[in-house]
Amino acid sequence: MESYDIELQEAIKNGNNICIAGHINPDGDAVSSALGLALCLKMIGKDVTVLLEDYSHKFYYIKGREMIYKGDYDKLEPDLFIAVDCGSKDRLGDAQSVFDRTENTINIDHHISNTEYAKYNVVYPNASSTSEVVFEIIRNFSVITDEIASALYTGIVSDTGGFKHNCTSPRTHEIASVLIGFEVPYSEIQNKILYSKSREELNIFIKALNKLKIENGISRVILTKKEILESGATYKDLDGIVSFILNIDDVDAAVFVYEKENGKTKVSMRSISTDVSGIAIKFGGGGHKLAAGADFDCTVEEAEKIIVKELEDVVSEGA
Ligand code: 5GP
Ligand code: MN
Repeated sequence: MESYDIELQEAIKNGNNICIAGHINPDGDAVSSALGLALCLKMIGKDVTVLLEDYSHKFYYIKGREMIYKGDYDKLEPDLFIAVDCGSKDRLGDAQSVFDRTENTINIDHHISNTEYAKYNVVYPNASSTSEVVFEIIRNFSVITDEIASALYTGIVSDTGGFKHNCTSPRTHEIASVLIGFEVPYSEIQNKILYSKSREELNIFIKALNKLKIENGISRVILTKKEILESGATYKDLDGIVSFILNIDDVDAAVFVYEKENGKTKVSMRSISTDVSGIAIKFGGGGHKLAAGADFDCTVEEAEKIIVKELEDVVSEGA
């Protein structure tokens, strides 16, 4: 970690009433980095409130859920706000209003598209996950407990797809080796978050695979809100579809377009070599080179057309 991190550590030390928030529709890394950091700050005597939208039951085993605030956000007056795994301020959702009225703000992240929106920005695009960045920060001022280690290990496994994605570095493995030195049930964690599927997830998977199309090295699936809900699934059951359809011979890019609960359209992209973050940023979204997404105001069919055209241009350039 670099010298300005002294400033960061001072800011954390000086905070007493701290809000920690992850991005909307929190994934494994957002939940793990938020709760891992919260457990640590609580242990060193801070008053900690976690702001996280509801997330998949898969991650309920991560300790610290009692710190998640369910009350009125207007009542919160923290002296320090820490955003984790959140590439831009609008991705904080309802917590954005709390961020806006807090003087001291920290943004801890690993998205290359991060807009550095806080007073202190700790953004490491080479880190596998925000959980990895949190580990680097807290090892300077806190002991790590079994609970913290399990949380951070979950975030790392989640964002690296089990140490598989190209965001995995020698440092990622070093950190994981420290973490599994604690009582971390690593086999159960890997099974739970990478492989096991609920009936609802399986039903929506079957539906998605029935709608799969593959052309010009691009695999794609579109799902409407009706299709998602009639399969008995919820929006927390959609994780894993886009990565799965990337694992097909001769496919270089995968796109999953679905209608969100609010009627807007979400585009989620994965690739083997094509830079999809550039395309996401072009449409107001963001992410990483090989995993990115964006929201669209048009229908799922229109968004699919736009994105597939963009992808075809770059996939064929790279061919
Ligand atoms: P996913 O496809 O799993 O939703 O997201 C893949 C990656 O892209 C994640 O790192 C996620 O944070 C980022 N991402 C997805 N959608 C958006 C978006 O609308 N805006 C931004 N800034 N990042 C996004
Ligand atoms: Mn992440």
